[in-house]
Amino acid sequence: PPVVEFRGTGLTYPGPPAVRALRPCHFSVRPGEFVTVVGPSGSGKSTFLNVVGLLDAPTEGTYLLDGIDTGRLAEHERAALRGRRIGFVFQSFHLLPHRTAVENVQLAMVYRRVPRAERRERARTALARVGLAHRADALPTRLSGGERQRVAVARALVARPSLLLCDEPTGNLDTATAGEILRLLDELHGEGMTLLVITHDPAVAAHGSRTVSIRDGRLTETVRDREVPA
Ligand code: ADP
Ligand code: ADP
Repeated sequence: PPVVEFRGTGLTYPGPPAVRALRPCHFSVRPGEFVTVVGPSGSGKSTFLNVVGLLDAPTEGTYLLDGIDTGRLAEHERAALRGRRIGFVFQSFHLLPHRTAVENVQLAMVYRRVPRAERRERARTALARVGLAHRADALPTRLSGGERQRVAVARALVARPSLLLCDEPTGNLDTATAGEILRLLDELHGEGMTLLVITHDPAVAAHGSRTVSIRDGRLTETVRDREVPA
């Protein structure tokens, strides 16, 4: 099945006044795709991210993640599914400041019943994957912005998610460092990872194999330079 499948999925904030932040739409991400989502501020990007990331339930339609109908799940089941299937990367890294790089990565597995020794091993492997084996025992304050984001990517990957969901992953980085992170995302895509990257930066959007625009809560797919309703 697709990793992400929207069937008439939408979200209206009840208000009053009600805000139709995500108009009901059909949208899917197949395994191994690198999809970018662009749109101006206030267009509904965060709402879209929150729905895809199982942080908010849609108010309309159906959302299937890996073929699982998420509308049928209790809140704790949604949270468990989120933890297993989705790796989040945020603009502002969200690392715990008093934990080392490897501890930050390990903590992503605490709720997954992975034995302690295996957690440590997998965390070290994930850090090595992002080129940070030599910084495993450093605190975030000792790391550069690019290194912090690499730790965040390692943390997102360590649970072996089906989807890497990134919100402005280069938003806090200078151009050169942003380029490094984008190369890393490109490499992960090359290895078969499914990526959904939300951005307002056209240069970041260009890395996707497919780009979707969002404006006033409406998703629009760009197919060969032609916009079609999603
Ligand atoms: P973006 O991330 O593109 O800036 P958002 O998804 O945050 O857009 O917002 C889309 C629309 O929904 C905006 O009009 C915003 O004001 C509105 N909105 C966002 N969150 C809420 C909320 N909790 N309650 C009501 N309206 C909201
Ligand atoms: P921005 O990308 O605008 O800087 P943030 O990166 O701070 O925003 O986070 C985006 C949203 O995701 C926020 O609403 C925040 O509460 C939420 N969030 C941040 N970290 C996590 C996390 N580890 N798990 C789930 N949600 C998170």
